[in-house]
Amino acid sequence: MLVSAAEMLKKAKAGKYAVGQFNINNLEWTKAILQTAQEMNSPVILGVSEGAGKYMCGYNTIVGMVNGMIETLGITVPVALHLDHGSYEGAKKCIEAGFSSIMFDGSHYPIEENIAKTKELIELAAAKGMSLEAEVGAIGGEEDGVVGSGEVADPNECKMIADLGVSMLAAGIGNIHGKYPANWAGLNFEVLGKISELTGDMPLVLHGGTGIPAEMIQKAISLGVSKINVNTECQLAFAAATREYIEAGKDLQGKGFDPRKLLAPGVEAIKATVKEKIELFGSANKA
Ligand SMILES: [Zn+2]
Repeated sequence: MLVSAAEMLKKAKAGKYAVGQFNINNLEWTKAILQTAQEMNSPVILGVSEGAGKYMCGYNTIVGMVNGMIETLGITVPVALHLDHGSYEGAKKCIEAGFSSIMFDGSHYPIEENIAKTKELIELAAAKGMSLEAEVGAIGGEEDGVVGSGEVADPNECKMIADLGVSMLAAGIGNIHGKYPANWAGLNFEVLGKISELTGDMPLVLHGGTGIPAEMIQKAISLGVSKINVNTECQLAFAAATREYIEAGKDLQGKGFDPRKLLAPGVEAIKATVKEKIELFGSANKA
């Protein structure tokens, strides 16, 4: 059964570890992430961007697939199904469709409008026992077509949004979606520390987890980050393993063209990536 992300993140914040949000793209992705979380006895958040939602034939299809897998695979660790960077309309659709968590990304609205819309969605989500993530300060890089400027969030605005009763808060602290450029300045720990101080128990979310050095991740967790989003890294691992299989000509040997064989190395690569992240984030055996 799907659960809200609120409880698992409260525990993570108190226990000084982070729960991974791994974005899904299809059945193979979802299965690989669920099986690895179960194997590691770790809570897990499945992230769905609006673009991936369309690709997978809509939110109802995804809810059906994930619930079916949880039952058939015997998944007992806490699993949240979460809309990633939701629009106001997309968030409403996921509340209806049976997701257990949503992110409303109102970071591109003026703060007053971000607050008004966040408030309304908190009420709708709370009525269904769902968690809600809000964002202050756009995350740099590309968010499904929305290009952020990589700004650093204003800690006072973070406090305003946190006080609305959100379950977790994403704040831009110099992090970027996708691959990090060679001249990246790193995370702004001074601002993260201030946000943490002002927002108290609020679990903080770090987007753009791909390629942030391990010691920066650990420092971020020590300063109150309890949820870390990983997307690109699984895609890169999947693509590299699939490339290797095809370049070795394995799809031309025997029944190597069978999708169950052709996609297997990519699936194993996703599993290895998720395992490595769960270990780094410290959420193994916290289910
Ligand atoms: Zn993000």
